[in-house]
Amino acid sequence: MLLLPTTMPDAAASARLRTWQAEIDAKPTYSERVDAAKAKFKQRNTRTNATFQKVKAALTAMCSGARRCVYCEDSVADEVEHIAPKDLYPEFVFVWDNYVYACGPCNGPKNNRYAVFGSNGSLIEVTRRSGGPVVPPISGRPGLINPRIDNPALLFDLDLIDTFVLLPKENLDATNRARADFTLDLLDLNRDVLLEARRTAYGSYRARLFEYRHKRDGGAGAVELDTLIKGLKAMPHPTVFAEMQRSHLDVPELTVLFGTIPEALQW
Ligand SMILES: [Zn+2]
Repeated sequence: MLLLPTTMPDAAASARLRTWQAEIDAKPTYSERVDAAKAKFKQRNTRTNATFQKVKAALTAMCSGARRCVYCEDSVADEVEHIAPKDLYPEFVFVWDNYVYACGPCNGPKNNRYAVFGSNGSLIEVTRRSGGPVVPPISGRPGLINPRIDNPALLFDLDLIDTFVLLPKENLDATNRARADFTLDLLDLNRDVLLEARRTAYGSYRARLFEYRHKRDGGAGAVELDTLIKGLKAMPHPTVFAEMQRSHLDVPELTVLFGTIPEALQW
């Protein structure tokens, strides 16, 4: 997971989202706002809805590879995901800044789970239990890391040596450590298939770097080299490449490889 580029739907779609949000906000009670948020989002988030077509196009521009999920960077993103769940936060159901494009395996288990920091600094799950009272969650700083605004590269390390597990950085304070742990658990970001996919991506990035070096040293022109760079940057699992760049001095084969392609540290 990486900090996402800033994109927006066009002015008409943005205005429509604000109008729809105002409709929800105008409902007199919280439970009515929750019900309306769920119903209206389901009604409008369709393949043929012009506003959501533009929303999805803008969300696609945040994704790596062939529209890969912003959380796992592996599966196709096909669900407009509310970072703060609409069941708990109807005031954000049509708010652009609350959307990312995610895959089913990430979004499904996440569902309506959420947590915030309480006044004593501990992380408290505010997920509404089935049949529980429909009341607003307590307020507090979100536990979930939000790649629209938080930089995950400052919070996680990826083990390239052996396991390909995503880990909280060692030097985090207690709050960020709790956020990193909660996010890894909520999105199940170390599921077996992801470890295997990151390992494969590492090999693919390495192979592309070899190809680039071979072509460059053979006298390839700028256009051809640029195409190779764009191809590398269009791959899934950009977190793997970012970690290869960041920790190249800690991994002997990467020290050698980037030593011969120093320009790749800036890609
Ligand atoms: Zn995913």
